[in-house]
Amino acid sequence: MSWLINGYKNFYNEHFIKNRSLYHNLATEGQSPKALVISCSDSRVEPSIILNCNPGDLFTIRSIANLVPPSIKDNLCSDTNVYHGVSAALEYGICFLQIKLIIVLGHTNCGGIKVAANQYQGIPSESYIKKWMSIAEKSCKEAKAKYKYSNLTEEEIFDKCGEHSLINSYKNLITFDHIKNRYNASQLDILIWNFDIKNGIITQLNKNNLQFESI
Ligand SMILES: [Zn+2]
Repeated sequence: MSWLINGYKNFYNEHFIKNRSLYHNLATEGQSPKALVISCSDSRVEPSIILNCNPGDLFTIRSIANLVPPSIKDNLCSDTNVYHGVSAALEYGICFLQIKLIIVLGHTNCGGIKVAANQYQGIPSESYIKKWMSIAEKSCKEAKAKYKYSNLTEEEIFDKCGEHSLINSYKNLITFDHIKNRYNASQLDILIWNFDIKNGIITQLNKNNLQFESI
């Protein structure tokens, strides 16, 4: 555990001391993030580092495979013991913090996407992962069928599954009334980005042709 304690001490002595006024302002005035980022829990994809941001800049929601579930109100759920972690964070960021930019940040080589694309091989049927990744199931099936006879490698097809899942997350974002209304009124922007871990390149979804293009 010493590496963590040493890391914290370095943070305090090097970063915190130099940025004391920033932390003081954040503590006294509260947060006012510039963007809401939905990213994977993957340890290789750190939004603040990739986007070169400071504390207070990004309101970040992390989960396996950066999925956005569709909006499902409790009165329409068959099981009322459902906890809407991602949906609640979205509501807080958009309705209470008034954030005007959402970035869904996917990435290549995503373990969660591979699990869904491989139809949960080795995953117990009652697994939390299986239930969560079912959000991406249709997207993965579509991408696998589309690229089945292409020249792409298995890894590249997984990445295509990730892209299709990102498009699904974009569509699911619009199922939330508070997001749809602001987006349609141009009070909120949505960017769908995919981070290539190996090459450090971000591509962006062109919402007109649903292709990922360089930024
Ligand atoms: Zn991932």
